[in-house]
This record gives sequence, C-alpha cells and structure tokens, in this order.
Amino acid sequence: METETLLKVEDLRVEYPGTGWRSAPFRAVDGVSFEIRRGETVGLVGESGSGKSTIGRAVLGLLEPAGGRIEFGGHDVTHRDRATQRQVSRRLQAIFQDPYSSLNPARTVGRTMVEPLEVQGGAARAGAVEKVASLLADVGLPEDSTDRYPPSFSGGQRQRIAIARSLSISPQLIICDEAVSALDLVTRAQVLNLLGDLQRERGFAYLFIAHDLPIVTYVSQRTVVLYRGRIMEQGPARAVHESPLHPYTQMLLAAVPVPDPAVQRVRRARRRATAVSTGTAAQPPAEGCPFAPRCPKVMSRCWTQRPEAVPVGEQVVECHLFGPSNRPAWVPSPVVRP
Ligand code: SF4
Repeated sequence: METETLLKVEDLRVEYPGTGWRSAPFRAVDGVSFEIRRGETVGLVGESGSGKSTIGRAVLGLLEPAGGRIEFGGHDVTHRDRATQRQVSRRLQAIFQDPYSSLNPARTVGRTMVEPLEVQGGAARAGAVEKVASLLADVGLPEDSTDRYPPSFSGGQRQRIAIARSLSISPQLIICDEAVSALDLVTRAQVLNLLGDLQRERGFAYLFIAHDLPIVTYVSQRTVVLYRGRIMEQGPARAVHESPLHPYTQMLLAAVPVPDPAVQRVRRARRRATAVSTGTAAQPPAEGCPFAPRCPKVMSRCWTQRPEAVPVGEQVVECHLFGPSNRPAWVPSPVVRP
C-alpha cells in the first residue's frame, strides 16, 4: 500500500575517501534526517560544501551511504543492487545546474529523449516519438525542437529540455540540484513557474537544492538548512524565512542583497560579524557545533557539546540557544527586512 511519505531519509551519513595529506575519510553528510510527502516540495539550502548536493546524489543512488537509511515509496533503497536501482530510477529523476553536460551535442534532442523510453520497451517504446513531442510542447519549446541539436538552444531552453526529459518516465520525485542557479533572473522566474505548473498538473514531489534561501522559500513547502553536512534548522518554508531561529539561517538571510541602502548596511554589518575566521579558529570543533567558529552568539559549551534538535513552534533547530536551560531567557533577534 502506498504511504503518504514518499522519501524518508534517516540519520544519513556519507563519506568521501581521504586524499593526499588528508588520509582520513571526510564526512560530507553527518546524521541528516528529513521526509518528503507525495506532491510536496522540500528545499535543501546551504552554502557550498554544506552537503546538500551529496544528499541528492545519495538519494539518486550515485553515492553509497556510510550509514543511515533511505526509504523511497515505502522500500528501503539505502544500498541498491542494479535491479533495484533500475526500478527506483523509473520513479526518481534529476535536473542539474548544467543540462548541457548531459546532452550529447551531436544528437538531436528528439533522439536523446526517445532513448530512455525505448529502453523501457512496451507501450513506452510504441508511442515514444509522439510522447517526446508532446513533452517538449508542455515545457514551452518550439515544435521543431525534436530535430534540433543542443548547441542551437539557449541556457533556459536547455533547462526546459532537461525538465521534459525528467518527465518522460512519469517520476514521483524530481531532484532539482541548483537547477536554476545559472539562469538569468527572467529565465529563472519562467523556469520556476514552469516547475510549479508541472507539479500542480502531475502531482510529483521535488527535492529542491539551492544556496539561495529566498528561492527555496518561493518553491518549497518545507525548508531544511544545512551547514557542514548537518541540519541546523528545518520547518515550514515561510516560518524559516520570516522567523529564522538558527544564527546560520539568519546569516544566510542577511547575505541576500536588498535594494534599500540602509537595510543593506545593517545586513552587511551582520554578515561581517559572521564572516569566516582565519587560522585554527576557523576549524569546527570535533565535538560541538560546527558553526561555532563563525557564530556571533557562541558559548563555551558550543565547542564541546553537539546541540540536540529542539522543536520550537513548527520549526526544529539544533542550537544551544534553544536548549531547555536557555529557553526561558531566549529572545529572538530582530530580523531586518526590506
Ligand atoms: Fe552558535 Fe552555539 Fe548555537 Fe552553534 S550552538 S549556532 S555556536 S549559539
């Protein structure tokens, strides 16, 4: 029986092998847990190196987890053999930042898109050409797109091709990994609206990975904020954006430029306060909060004790400011808005 939860990630850990002077494995994702319900969009947000793309690749089966569990459609898919991976990839698709690298420039778009349908065989193969033409029309591409080669399309059009290709096998979940980051503002808005329209029509879910908190808020129902492979805060997208609890989430928001120079000045000052330190102080503690070297509210125990996930209203935050002993004294920082 199908469950309401489509993807369940529990205590996920992913490591990369050590290289050169760093022979110990590097833990890129450390104990991450979240869920995506059917038809929902969950945003993963964080700076470069926060582990968000690594999580996406682990869910896609491109990386082997070092620990934890990934459940998709009610089945444990943490460690997949080839047959399981084939089954999962029929319901799980991805759109990456650079669609050009996944399009063969010497093949027409039609040929590239028909291939996965032919591999499926059966009914998918029989109507493959018509289906591809219809999908390209659905994402707003011109009629002659099937006969054209990738270099003849703009960046935005190539991202539309990637979207059409991800839809060709009727997925239940699409992982969008920085899918609009390389697009100009106008094209980005068009592609985001297209992603929203397609989701409303077809009912699939998105895991939307980006470094830009306002964009993640715009497209997501829930947001998960990551720093150095760990979750700092998660909750309803609007709540996380309007009342960020974790100092790191507040820093991400302060980094977003605003048109008002006075507000921008305050934000810049905040950003300076959380700028990356240099030297040994920039190294996060082995035990404790990874954000400690950058946190303007750091306390002595932040260096030695890992904060636990604490529910605060609808949000869940991992920060000692919200531990039981601090809760009565805690006063939220004012958030400067345009
Ligand atoms: Fe800052 Fe400490 Fe909270 Fe980490 S646990 S974000 S260092 S106050």
